Amino acid sequence: MFDLADRLARARNAVAEAGLDAVLVTPGADLRYLTGYDARPYERLTCLAVPAAGDPFLVVPRLEEPAALASPAGALDLPVVAWDETDDPYALVASRLPAGVARLGLDNQMWLEKAVAFRAALPRAEQCLAGDVLRALRIRKSPEEVEALRRAAAAIDRVHQRVGEWLRPGRTERAVGRDIADAILAEGHVRVDFVIVASGPNGASPHHEVSDRVIQAGEAVVVDIGGTTEEGYCSDSTRVYALGQPPDEFLRLYDVLQRAQRTQTAAVRPGITAEQLDAVGRDIIAEAGYGPNFVHRTGHGIGLETHEEPYIVAGSSRPLEPGMAFSVEPGIYLPGQFGARIEDIVVCTSDGGERLNRTTRELVVLDASP
Ligand code: ZN
Ligand code: ZN
Repeated sequence: MFDLADRLARARNAVAEAGLDAVLVTPGADLRYLTGYDARPYERLTCLAVPAAGDPFLVVPRLEEPAALASPAGALDLPVVAWDETDDPYALVASRLPAGVARLGLDNQMWLEKAVAFRAALPRAEQCLAGDVLRALRIRKSPEEVEALRRAAAAIDRVHQRVGEWLRPGRTERAVGRDIADAILAEGHVRVDFVIVASGPNGASPHHEVSDRVIQAGEAVVVDIGGTTEEGYCSDSTRVYALGQPPDEFLRLYDVLQRAQRTQTAAVRPGITAEQLDAVGRDIIAEAGYGPNFVHRTGHGIGLETHEEPYIVAGSSRPLEPGMAFSVEPGIYLPGQFGARIEDIVVCTSDGGERLNRTTRELVVLDASP
């Protein structure tokens, strides 16, 4: 399905083109992207080495060798080298790298204790971050990856369509959040990444999660949820629900927000820059007088991680390209009162954008009876 051998080959070329002698990748999205191995980061070293000249290899603790071989990495033309509890795995990696490694890239999410151990094992190598090299490979999604993101988006859409089953006045955000988390797993995900149920004034805090606050009739509730599918791709979508009739000021705010989000998703096309796309929505919100209340960037890339490149933010002159996938999620927040955010994942296509989330962007008004 995913062409892992091609990804590894592209990584080798990228390492050489960046002027690095090798890149070391510990468990995380980069390792999964390059080998299909979804390893957990632990204190024992698991590490993919990608030399610019020479063959890549994967070093794993002996007890994780069966899991590594059972993963897609086991089917690759990639030596899996196991180390025993009394071995020094850092010396093992160093001994298998080509001699004279001078510039060594480390994946951005490598634990610091591992980076320091590699410095001791390879004292003559200058260390640098490999993030830009590796992320350049992941920033444009292949058609297979877009298909996987479509499946993830459809899965989270099914959860949003069921929110009315659980969201009622008199329940706490936490109780509603637990039901939503169960549904995320029931609807096509293997992991719950986050559940935000922000009722009433909590809606004004963009990264509120859940609390023991009891949800009241007449309130708006921001529900921002996401998970990871078995294929490793992430979902992320926000909708706003109202329990009965919310205040007039909220309806006015929501109207502005919806106009901004619709205009922004329609503006996605190759060549528009990240900062231009951000400004499309920010200008509409500012003209309505809510400029200071849109306190975050418009969105983030999504793939094997919920937040990755490209970031849709002021100051980024990066032009969008076909295959880039990212969120469009403007928000307006009135501290102490309420807030709202609407979020879709959009993929840039050859001539525009494809919105992967398809549930209604209108305010979803639910029955306010307990
Ligand atoms: Zn998001
Ligand atoms: Zn979100």
